[in-house]
Amino acid sequence: MNIILLGPPGAGKGTQAQRLVEARGMTQLSTGDMLREAKTSGTEMGQKVAEVMAKGHLVTDEIVIGLIREKLEAGGNGFIFDGFPRTLPQADALNELLADMGQSLDAVIEMRVDKDEVLVQRVVNRAAEAVAAGKEPRADDTAEAMQERLFVYYKQTSPLLGYYYAKGMLQGVEGLGTMDEVAAEIAGILDA
Ligand code: AMP
Repeated sequence: MNIILLGPPGAGKGTQAQRLVEARGMTQLSTGDMLREAKTSGTEMGQKVAEVMAKGHLVTDEIVIGLIREKLEAGGNGFIFDGFPRTLPQADALNELLADMGQSLDAVIEMRVDKDEVLVQRVVNRAAEAVAAGKEPRADDTAEAMQERLFVYYKQTSPLLGYYYAKGMLQGVEGLGTMDEVAAEIAGILDA
């Protein structure tokens, strides 16, 4: 089973993906995590990407599709796409990559949080928790970068909701609930 977790920044995609990894042995493919790794690699590409990410803008389709292609070509199934696709060309590319492997998508789960102030508060809290734990917070987990990330989400990524709705694949969960409530709703969809 391959699924996409779709939703605005701060909706809880990463948290729920992690839960599915633990509960079902699925494989999380987070382009955000892959890009942050590229940043620490210290290459010129990594540096450029880090600047784009810090502003809350999207990295090019070419780069993220390349990252996903590499992971998929390593084989396997039971993928959770977390933070990918974020544009219509990425969505088309994902269909093709999966088709090449004789696989397809089973569900696209929209994590709905329709209160921007909650999303901003969640990432600001995440940054504070990172600092409290002695870790470096994400450069884009600030109230300013979140304004841009939300704008980019509504403009470039939310059209995917219509795209997957038209394909009959879109299902929604209420993302404002507790982690357990959201996890239970997702489990209900996957077990249906
Ligand atoms: P995330 O960890 O999913 O919040 O992603 C953090 C940042 O990485 C985003 O704000 C973008 O700058 C970049 N990024 C992650 N995934 C993608 C993607 N699929 N397409 C373009 N940029 C991405």
